[in-house]
Amino acid sequence: MKKAFIIDIDNCWLDSRLWISKAPLGSTSEDEWMIFYRKVYFCKPNKEFIEDILKIVEEKQLFPIFVTARSGSVATQTILQIQQNSPLIVGNTCALYMRPSRNDYRSSEEVKRDLLMDVLKEYEIECVIDDTVANLLMFKEHGISNVIHYDIQTHDYNRI
Ligand SMILES: [Mg+2]
Repeated sequence: MKKAFIIDIDNCWLDSRLWISKAPLGSTSEDEWMIFYRKVYFCKPNKEFIEDILKIVEEKQLFPIFVTARSGSVATQTILQIQQNSPLIVGNTCALYMRPSRNDYRSSEEVKRDLLMDVLKEYEIECVIDDTVANLLMFKEHGISNVIHYDIQTHDYNRI
């Protein structure tokens, strides 16, 4: 099996801080996603993180897999956001796994758990990098021991 690592998109590969959780107080997670999906294109590349990832790809010869809680309804924008900011090509030199439906409002860790099951059919996962601790704990529970928390404010990486 191909040796790979999993990376998150929002607040890792992209700086999405302006667009995440900007829904008014008391709105449902459905409202928050609606706002986010309208603004998704404006998330900016996180150059420092992207450089680090490309270094890992080259030096460790690991295949990058993006696992995101964004839904497939924004796949076109997401693929552009990967490809415009790196030499990676989705479906060729990297893979992208997304929330299956826009009407799916499960938590990120639930979605990513299901996506992980699909990933594990094809790849051997060496490590996971994500900015959300709940996601990382889920990956750890499912047998991936090397899980790394990324903090977009400080650009620090910490093993959990
Ligand atoms: Mg994230």
